[in-house]
Amino acid sequence: MANYKIATIPGDGIGPEIVAETIKVLEKIGELFGHTFTFTEVLAGGIAIDKTGEPLPAETVEVCKNSDAVLLGAVGGWKWDVLPGDKRPERALLGLRSALGLYANLRPAVLHDALKEACPLRADIVAGGIDIMIVRELTGGMYFGDRGRRDTELGLAAWDTEMYATEEVRRIAITAFEMARKRGKKLTNVDKANVLESSRLWREVILEVAKDYPDIALDHLYIDNAAMQIIRDPGSYDVMVTTNMFGDILSDEASQITGSIGMLPSASLNKDNFGMYEPIHGSAPDIAGQDKANPIATILSAAMMLQYTFGLEKEAKAIENAVTKVLNSGVRTGDIMSEGKRLVGTKEMGKLVLEAVKK
Ligand code: NAD
Repeated sequence: MANYKIATIPGDGIGPEIVAETIKVLEKIGELFGHTFTFTEVLAGGIAIDKTGEPLPAETVEVCKNSDAVLLGAVGGWKWDVLPGDKRPERALLGLRSALGLYANLRPAVLHDALKEACPLRADIVAGGIDIMIVRELTGGMYFGDRGRRDTELGLAAWDTEMYATEEVRRIAITAFEMARKRGKKLTNVDKANVLESSRLWREVILEVAKDYPDIALDHLYIDNAAMQIIRDPGSYDVMVTTNMFGDILSDEASQITGSIGMLPSASLNKDNFGMYEPIHGSAPDIAGQDKANPIATILSAAMMLQYTFGLEKEAKAIENAVTKVLNSGVRTGDIMSEGKRLVGTKEMGKLVLEAVKK
């Protein structure tokens, strides 16, 4: 019996709808397995701007720091698109990542058997399935590096800096090698070491860390080649590790080939396995408040929370099995709907998953 404190950030758009369904699933897990989850809801994103004037109030960071894990829906929406960059809802995400030291982003891209028809790749290419774990560095590189503007002979110029320190690379490398050890014992490092100095250091550190993992088969791809290989033969990849920016792009590509953005969870971890868990999709303002959003990505994010932060493997599996069972029964939200299946809304999908959770 254990008690876990979870900070919840429903955020904007479909965020509140999908987080509500996920909380119910976690409560069912608590009942079945004898755990208590205490939820504290806090503000971030557009709703926080409306209520407090800023996207990430200090109180939100404080509550997250005092919790065992964070569950986030999504932030952002058309209403706030007119605001300058540093005042926009999405700033809350960068702020949370850096305030909580969340440097390791885990993004699994899994093709569920029941959803094979939703995959945009040819059937023979995905015959062996897709199960890739992308490990993306999340608090360094170009998204956090020096930037600026200056006048030049060719007019106004702007720059962003890609910089990685040895320790930043080492810790994400360790996360990736450990992940590979728990999975298929294969790790693909993705960089641009043929051109970028930062990538050359990145690769040197990966090779150094590899000495501690002789049981893991390591290979390397340049990012441009990786972008091709992931659609040419996705089944041949297990764990991939890469920088913040390359990982941003590659993980979106990997998720797209699994068929639905509404299915994919993510985890962002610090050095102590404290984590923020969220679906990879955004706030979907086009369907917000209409009971149309697929809650599965968020529900599977909660399963990752149970696995990676709380070490509750059986409980995590119980959620994953429930999702598989519901998909196999032919129930679908709009984003994964196909002919002959039964269309349901957010609440109904949440309820069906909850009912399918078994000890
Ligand atoms: P989006 O992921 O919100 O939506 C893209 C498309 O996918 C839309 O058609 C949407 O209806 C659909 N979709 C997304 N999630 C779905 C779900 N669970 N079920 C069914 N359909 C779903 O991306 P976008 O439209 O580019 O961005 C919308 C807003 O979200 C923007 O303000 C953006 O900045 C923000 N955003 C936030 C996050 C985050 O909070 N982590 C991530 C990406 C985008």
